[in-house]
Amino acid sequence: MTSASIDVLVAGAGAAGLAAALSASDSDLDVVVVETSPSFRSSSNTAMSTSMVPAAGSRWQSAAGIEDSPQQFYADIMSKTKGQADPVIARALTNIAPELVEWMADSVNVPFELVTDFRYPGHSVDRCLAVPDRSGATMHRHMLESVGHRSTITLMNPMRLESIDIRSSGFITCVVEGPDHVRETVTTRSVVIATNGFAAHGDLVSQHLPEIEHALYHGGSESKGDSLVLGEQINADVAFLDSYQGHGSVAIPHGVIMTWAAVMQGAVLVNREGVRFGDETVGYSEYAVPVLEQPGGFAWVVLDERINAACSVFKDYRDLLNAGGIRWSATVEGLASIVGAESEPLGSTLKTAASLACESTPDSFGRVFTTEPLTPPYGAVKVTGALFHTQGGLLVDGDARVLSGGTPINGVYAAGGAAAGISGHGASGYLAGNGLLSALGLGYLAGRHVAQVHNPTIEINRDEE
Ligand SMILES: Cc1cc2nc3c(=O)[nH]c(=O)nc-3n(C[C@H](O)[C@H](O)[C@H](O)COP(=O)(O)OP(=O)(O)OC[C@H]3O[C@@H](n4cnc5c(N)ncnc54)[C@H](O)[C@@H]3O)c2cc1C
Repeated sequence: MTSASIDVLVAGAGAAGLAAALSASDSDLDVVVVETSPSFRSSSNTAMSTSMVPAAGSRWQSAAGIEDSPQQFYADIMSKTKGQADPVIARALTNIAPELVEWMADSVNVPFELVTDFRYPGHSVDRCLAVPDRSGATMHRHMLESVGHRSTITLMNPMRLESIDIRSSGFITCVVEGPDHVRETVTTRSVVIATNGFAAHGDLVSQHLPEIEHALYHGGSESKGDSLVLGEQINADVAFLDSYQGHGSVAIPHGVIMTWAAVMQGAVLVNREGVRFGDETVGYSEYAVPVLEQPGGFAWVVLDERINAACSVFKDYRDLLNAGGIRWSATVEGLASIVGAESEPLGSTLKTAASLACESTPDSFGRVFTTEPLTPPYGAVKVTGALFHTQGGLLVDGDARVLSGGTPINGVYAAGGAAAGISGHGASGYLAGNGLLSALGLGYLAGRHVAQVHNPTIEINRDEE
């Protein structure tokens, strides 16, 4: 076992860890990032994501003439979570979001653009930014390239943060484990826990999220709950362990996300009997369980050529298309045979939805079809409900400092899936972008606060409410 001393140790090289490292390095602090997975460039949640990051009041919105504000975004979060989201974290993230995304574009060179072709459920205006191919791997690659250009950041991979000891005053002692189980003690003035949540840990999922325990897991392979283990070592507060992001349409057997943009453009989900089973526009997260409850535990997304064209901007969708995951038929009868249903009731299901297109009258589930009707040829994608990641974890304050008994622990921060999120309880509070906003936003805030602690002359601008 060897020993080293640094300014900031960051555990995890996803969006949260890299944002923390880059923001701390803006103030010339020495940062070491340890990342356990050799394949993290493709297997972290960040790399698997679609790169949507919401921000209210950004310059992209101004350029598009969209009026928005952190207050409006905060209200949307509170509305989606029925008032359950942690108000401190939600306020901190909605306030920092415009600064964050502009920093990501200008200092981290992430080519963000405003998504205006469809709006995810729960956002009252267009405010999500994404990279052009809507691929988290692309956004992650840009962040890693920026890390590579900073001489003050060292990325050590594979290396896992095993333990944190805060008993000595003034510094923190961490143990990291590298290849061949070689352990090293790192003495640091600050540590950022950015190891994501526990969605890849079956027992923890059964314990905290029983409703989704048998679902397909479609998330980072190393989300094994290390944050909770590390948190226990320092007596950290935890919250919202029953909170998660699900998804109602992961294509099977391909295991590729079938974007919910299809639904927002007018697609419907039918079961193998050819009937719809709810208002799909409530949100993809809460639709995972209803899909799993259908006969066989799956459903079919039915779309048309207009929706196909709109979804083609997503790399994942193009991959699915190329893999033959979308099957087409010019007739209801042909579609019925793909779905394994009878032509009736499938035909009536489609006819009813089409009759309500562009109307303000809701259907029997409460869905309002604001788009054009589906027209043949029809495309069909077989999908199931999945668990993407957990949204509960270490409770932090508005500077991403981990709390113990409600008081911040000096020098210890958490960000992203490692921290308690802003999605309330269960699956229905997840608003598109909550995941990356918590990751990038808390990471950015942590790095900025670390820098201020190390150099108290640095000022932090806060938009307090
Ligand atoms: C298919 C899909 C699409 C999504 N799309 C979006 C989207 O468009 N917008 C959005 O906001 N959210 C989206 N999400 C959610 C989003 O991906 C996550 O909320 C976010 O990426 C979490 O970032 P993170 O840095 O906390 O975790 P990760 O990106 O998973 O990074 C954590 C890293 O920590 C490493 N690690 C774990 N334990 C240790 C340890 N002990 N020591 C060192 N390293 C460790 C892991 O290997 C991993 O690389 C999506 C998720 C999925 C699965």
